[in-house]
Amino acid sequence: MDTLPLLDVRTLFFVLIMLSLVLALSLWIGVGHRFRAGLGLWVISLLLQCVVFALFALRGRIGELWTVILPNGLFLVCITLKAAAIMQFYGQRMARSWHVLPPLVLMLLFALLLNHIGPRVLIGSIAYSAAQFALAWLSLHLATPATVQATRLMVIGLVIGALAFFARAMMALLSPQEVNDLLGPSQIQAVSFLLGLSVILMTSIGFLLLYKERAEDDAQRQAATDPLTDTFNRRMFLELGSKEVARSRRSLVPLSLIMMDLDHFKKVNDKYGHAAGDDVLRRFVDVTNICLRREDMLVRYGGEEFCVLLPEVSDLQAEALAERIRYAVEHAMFRWRDQAIPVTVSIGVASLRGEEDETLAELLQRADEALYAAKNGGRNRVVVCPENSTLAMLMRSRAE
Ligand code: GH3
Ligand code: MG
Ligand code: MG
Repeated sequence: MDTLPLLDVRTLFFVLIMLSLVLALSLWIGVGHRFRAGLGLWVISLLLQCVVFALFALRGRIGELWTVILPNGLFLVCITLKAAAIMQFYGQRMARSWHVLPPLVLMLLFALLLNHIGPRVLIGSIAYSAAQFALAWLSLHLATPATVQATRLMVIGLVIGALAFFARAMMALLSPQEVNDLLGPSQIQAVSFLLGLSVILMTSIGFLLLYKERAEDDAQRQAATDPLTDTFNRRMFLELGSKEVARSRRSLVPLSLIMMDLDHFKKVNDKYGHAAGDDVLRRFVDVTNICLRREDMLVRYGGEEFCVLLPEVSDLQAEALAERIRYAVEHAMFRWRDQAIPVTVSIGVASLRGEEDETLAELLQRADEALYAAKNGGRNRVVVCPENSTLAMLMRSRAE
């Protein structure tokens, strides 16, 4: 500790104020000048933080109501505002009373303990430590797979802040003279302010990164999905499907593909309009999804043509599933402006045959041929590709 240079605490307060202002501006510019999804609350918290630091720095020059009681209450509001910002980012609301009641209680305690600096520092530090731990817990609790990296940075910052305040509380207990003088040139004060600086940086950059991670995730999802039906698009299917074919060949597990095409869909458009057609497509996806497992991949392959890739499903199981979907679609209620629209689907089924060089394209080709046969056979039916003999069947016959 002897080697650490002493830092003037008033200067450090000034640095913290500048840092908070620069971060507020950076957040505003970084997120595209819009105070949405919690950003406004975070920026308010940073600006309020500037007021808090300015009031602390004025200690000794103006009354203690302004430099002790008020800024300590407001500092807690800074933390509750950040909590509200994080909740808003995830589409949740925090009760307003959180910004009022805990800070009021803290200010009341500070007013009562105005002449007892040890207990005052102890209570304040414990309150801030607990609040920052709670904020770290909240961030982790609300994080999604898309925001986990940014959350990690924020949580590290918050935990450092919480531990620093905890250490300050312990110091208030063990050697009160060290924490007595907020503006005094103590090295411990200087270290806590430097920690404060890192915490402000890490949490605010973390909050900015939340937006970046979410934007990246949205972009990835948009590139992978069909906007009308929210199913995978053809591009993503070809990419993931090839991997799935390779995996099934490698580990000798079955893989099936069903290809579906709505019957006489052109007539739906002609009779009820294009918007009704779109609605039928969305409803068809809902009905189909009910029949599927999580690992099945539903894809909009073309206009009114869909396919489902079924990992670890044999041709017999795929045929049964296809029949379930066909039945569900035929019996589902498709309505448009009080008119019932009869909808049916034709389905072709193909499964991997277990040949060395079999590709996704060949599997698609055979499913398409089966679908063609279903159309020719009168529609609203399931046809299984006659050349099917899945890996599972192959293995069974080898075993016999
Ligand atoms: P079939 O039973 O032989 O499949 O007859 P069909 O009328 O379903 O087949 P066809 O390929 O002749 O027509 C498909 C129609 O699907 C034509 C096209 O306008 C319509 N379509 C394709 N994409 C969309 C879409 O996104 N929305 C709507 N509303 N219609 C679409
Ligand atoms: Mg069709
Ligand atoms: Mg078609």
